[in-house]
Amino acid sequence: MSDSPRGVVRHCPFCAEEDLWPVEEPAGGWECRACARVFTVRLDRVEAQHIPGRVAEEAALGREEQP
Ligand SMILES: [Zn+2]
Repeated sequence: MSDSPRGVVRHCPFCAEEDLWPVEEPAGGWECRACARVFTVRLDRVEAQHIPGRVAEEAALGREEQP
C-alpha cells in the first residue's frame, strides 16, 4: 500500500469525472479539467483493527497464548 494519493485517485471527488492531471503545487495535488478544481487527497490513518488479515492473525495469536 502506498501513502501517495497519486496511485489511487481515479475520479474527481467533486464532479466524478476522470480527467485528472497531477499538479506541482500543491505537492501531490490534482487538477480536474472537467470542473477546474485543484485538490489533494490526504490519508489520515489506517484503522488497523479493521484489516481482515490482521484480525485473523491476532485471533490466532490470542489462541496460542491461552493455556
Ligand atoms: Zn471535477
